[in-house]
Amino acid sequence: MQIIRTTREMHGIVKYWKATRRTIGLVPTMGALHAGHRSLMDTADARTEEVVVSVFVNPTQFGPNEDYANYPRNLAKDEAFCKAAGVSVLFVPNPAEMYPQGYSTWVDEDTLGLGFEGAQRPGHFRGVTTIVAKLFNIVQPEVAVFGQKDVQQALIIQRMARDLDYPIRVVIAPTVREADGLAMSSRNAYLSSEHRQAATAIHRGLSAAVAAHRQGERQAATLLQLVQAPIVASGGAPDYVALVNPDTLKPVDDTLKGRGLIVVTARYGTTRLLDNSFLEA
Ligand code: AMP
Repeated sequence: MQIIRTTREMHGIVKYWKATRRTIGLVPTMGALHAGHRSLMDTADARTEEVVVSVFVNPTQFGPNEDYANYPRNLAKDEAFCKAAGVSVLFVPNPAEMYPQGYSTWVDEDTLGLGFEGAQRPGHFRGVTTIVAKLFNIVQPEVAVFGQKDVQQALIIQRMARDLDYPIRVVIAPTVREADGLAMSSRNAYLSSEHRQAATAIHRGLSAAVAAHRQGERQAATLLQLVQAPIVASGGAPDYVALVNPDTLKPVDDTLKGRGLIVVTARYGTTRLLDNSFLEA
């Protein structure tokens, strides 16, 4: 496995792969790698010959009062993790490499990103789409893999790839969970043991809604109450719990027709946790 820190070196490798007709898969991450990331790497590996994992804590997607400075960083561990996963290249640019002095060009998706995380974290998705567009240009993958855990992000990237004509298949890989159902996340490390235990309520709530939907429940208010109640009972503070159309991310106010998606964010202490479930028609 090669560790690459500059765009220039990455371009050299990509040029060689293209000349030798190797297909490329990309998995963008912010490091602190866990089994959720591993499943993205395996998904890329099953579809392409060379897998690039990027580890970059992207400053432009963090708000001024968010955890950029304290975000967990452990490159030695991430390096061993990627090596064990059979990754070809670990791409670890530094912020000055990605955003040189005077940087002033941005990619902005202006519909899917308006609500939910976009409303809670102004500027967040502009940072995400910009860094992912840059990574797409640098790595030129045939396939890029994102996690369903951050479903709004994944749908925005799919839209961006379509709208900006990237010849890239954007694959959404299922959420990987701890044994008790909590979605794996680098931010779970911030939870106290009490909150860590209480946070299992998020998945319990989502599972209750999925089960009720399977048995024919279609009223948005009823389905959302099933998600919300255990979270509130466990001491969590929901930021939002919503039933949306998965193609438009527009809320379903009344009766669900066709597929649905429940998105939820809840705070336990100072930690915000995201999760979601699709309701299949
Ligand atoms: P992050 O390092 O948290 O920015 O995440 C990098 C990628 O891994 C994103 O596409 C996330 O959606 C994905 N990811 C994070 N946690 C999980 C998980 N538990 N299951 C599946 N994918 C995940």
